[in-house]
Amino acid sequence: MTNILVINAGSSSLKYQLIDIDTETVIAKGICERIGIPGSLLSYKPTNGEKFEKQQDMHDHKDAIQLVLDVLSDPKIGVISDMSSIAAVGHRVLHGGEKYSEPVLINDQVLEAIEECIPLGPLHNPANLMGIRGCMAVMPNVPMVAVFDTAWGQSMPKKAFMYALPYEAYEKFKVRRYGFHGTSHRYVAGRAISKLDMPKEQTRVITCHLGNGSSLSAVKGGKCVDTSMGLTPLEGVPMGTRCGSIDPAIMPFLMDKLGLSAAEMDTYMNKKSGMLGVSGISSDFRDLDAASKEGNERAELALQMFAYKVKQYIGAYAAALNGVDAIVFTAGVGENDRRMREMILTDMEYLGVDVDFQWNQECPRGEEVEISKPNSRVKVFVIPTDEEMTIARDTAALAL
Ligand code: ADP
Repeated sequence: MTNILVINAGSSSLKYQLIDIDTETVIAKGICERIGIPGSLLSYKPTNGEKFEKQQDMHDHKDAIQLVLDVLSDPKIGVISDMSSIAAVGHRVLHGGEKYSEPVLINDQVLEAIEECIPLGPLHNPANLMGIRGCMAVMPNVPMVAVFDTAWGQSMPKKAFMYALPYEAYEKFKVRRYGFHGTSHRYVAGRAISKLDMPKEQTRVITCHLGNGSSLSAVKGGKCVDTSMGLTPLEGVPMGTRCGSIDPAIMPFLMDKLGLSAAEMDTYMNKKSGMLGVSGISSDFRDLDAASKEGNERAELALQMFAYKVKQYIGAYAAALNGVDAIVFTAGVGENDRRMREMILTDMEYLGVDVDFQWNQECPRGEEVEISKPNSRVKVFVIPTDEEMTIARDTAALAL
């Protein structure tokens, strides 16, 4: 058994999974919530055991990691004898700027680089750093690896990642498309390519990570050549609470009309828009599906707008790739929302997409399934994403 601990640290939360990389199985997982806030809570679930919850103050991420290690090695409910049986730790890190196109073994230089990227990921990078530093304090001799969400987008050609702003915006302020959800796109693209009966170099795949946050990626020969999120995760298709791409002139217009500061406008677009903003009821696709069935027109409009934008991106990426061999759906909405998949994939004969809509409705959840008909020129797959396993594999490859 070779155990890898995978950490995804947020500003007040820390998700973890302990993975045996020899058998690629999850041994235990859980989350620490309300770190640094009164009423901190640890939850823990061994794969072969009962769920356990404990309320205990966690002042910072170091406290949280210590608590995770304590519960993992607890004599009664733990799954390992002690900390020394954790061979390495893999950290999900949001922003690696232009420096990292691959996962990397963490050292002082890497910490510095993550710190330098804070202006590009002001919410996530500081939290990721707290997670890493917390781990280093508690497990000083264990190798750690950073897996960047932005690494995937580093293979984009310049014409795809540049914005048509004065060049100084790129040179001075690093304003460019980076893209996010990289680990997920990489994983599902890899799975799809392995199902195509053709040399990897020739494959053209479009991956649709549709969840609370959503992005699409155009993948040529296994490498990202375009992706819908940009400098920040706001660009692209509309999302739960984010507006996605809009006419940029709307920003100064509404700032003027509503008397909003730049920070308030940012919140307006990131937290009050998207599915929530249009429907006025919820950011959750399940709520919108239910409301739409009851005749709520704005809920239905939000869903229609989402499907339309995803469809447009698929068309755009088919053009960028000079055709497409496979389209992949993943994440909360992509894996579960059958009606949304149908809305997106209807009227795509022009592209050679022929979906078995009956099977799309009936196919099992949580498994890799092909929903296109056997003779469809373009294969359409639903592939559950597995970012943690991908991070564990990357970590093992670099640290062991
Ligand atoms: P995150 O971006 O937070 O990781 P997820 O990928 O977990 O998000 O996706 C969460 C979204 O998936 C929820 O907002 C919900 O709308 C949607 N979702 C989950 N299950 C279903 C379902 N059975 N039907 C429709 N939508 C679903």
